[in-house]
Amino acid sequence: MTHPIYHGRYAPSPTGRLHFGSLVAAVGSYLDAKAHHGSWQLRIDDLDRPRILAGAASDILKTLDAFGLHWDGPVVYQSTRDDAYRAALAQLQAQHFIYPCTCSRREIADSATTGRDGLIYPGTCRDKPHHQHHHTRNTHSAALRLRTGHAHIQFEDGLFGPQHCQLEHEYGDFIVQRADGMYAYQLAVVVDDHAQCITDIVRGADLLDSTPRQCYLQHCLGYPQARYMHLPVAVNSQGEKLSKQTLAIAVSARQPVTLLNTALTFLGQSAIETNDVDDLTNFWPQAIHQWQRTRIPKVRTQSAPALV
Ligand SMILES: [Zn+2]
Repeated sequence: MTHPIYHGRYAPSPTGRLHFGSLVAAVGSYLDAKAHHGSWQLRIDDLDRPRILAGAASDILKTLDAFGLHWDGPVVYQSTRDDAYRAALAQLQAQHFIYPCTCSRREIADSATTGRDGLIYPGTCRDKPHHQHHHTRNTHSAALRLRTGHAHIQFEDGLFGPQHCQLEHEYGDFIVQRADGMYAYQLAVVVDDHAQCITDIVRGADLLDSTPRQCYLQHCLGYPQARYMHLPVAVNSQGEKLSKQTLAIAVSARQPVTLLNTALTFLGQSAIETNDVDDLTNFWPQAIHQWQRTRIPKVRTQSAPALV
C-alpha cells in the first residue's frame, strides 16, 4: 500500500517554556504525522522579537527531545528568514496584490466593524493613488495590506469538517507587513511552510481563524493549499488559553510517560501502558499505532487536567 506524501511540522513561539497546551499540540502533530508515515519538522516561530524570551528556544528543543519527540531535518528559525519574506512581498507587489496603508489605529477603529478576528479593515487606502512607481519600497511608514477582493476560501478541516470564508467580509484586507517593518505572522508562516514542503498542518484551534487568510496567501503566491487539522486548545479554570501570560506551569520530562498519557487522554486517545514512567521506547510505537483522528473531541477548547 502506498501512502500520500505527508510532511508535518510543529512551530512553537519561544516566548516561554513548553506548557501542557504546547505539549498537546506537539504530541498531536507528531502522532498524526507518524501515523500517516510522514515527516515531522520543527520550526521556531521567533518572528515577534520583542516577545522572545532568551533561552526559550533551546529549552523547547531540549524538552521535546526529553519527551522522545524527535524532529526530522534541521530546525528552521523564522528570525533568519527575512530574505524569503521580502521576496514573497515583492512577488505579491508585482502582481498588485498589496497596497500601502497609512491609517492610524484610531482611524480604523472609528470606521471598522468587528469580524471573526478583530476589526475588519474597511479598505480606506485600497484605491488611493500612491506615489510609488514600479518596485515599491516600503518606507516603513506604511503597513502593507493584501487585497482580499471577492476571495471565497474553502478548506476541509481534519477535525471540524468543511470550512467556508468570505475573506473581505469576515477579515478584510489584512496586513502582510506592519508599518514598523515587521513581517506579519500570516505571511511568514505561509512562506516557511511552503519552503519546508509542509503538506499537513496540525495545530491548536485558536489558529482556525488564521487558516482562511493563510489559504488565500498560498493561492496568491501560487503555492498548493495545505491540509489542516485544528486540535482542542487547553484552557485553565478561567477558560483562558494556557500561556506564559496566564502563568501556565512549564512541563517537566521527569516522568515523561505520565504526562504524555495525560496529553493522549486530552486528545481522546487511550493511555499507553509501559513498563516504566520513562519507557519512551515502548510508548511511542504504541501511541502511533493507536492514533485515531475520529477520537479527538470536536471542541475548540477543553479544560486542562488539574495537575498541569
Ligand atoms: Zn489604510
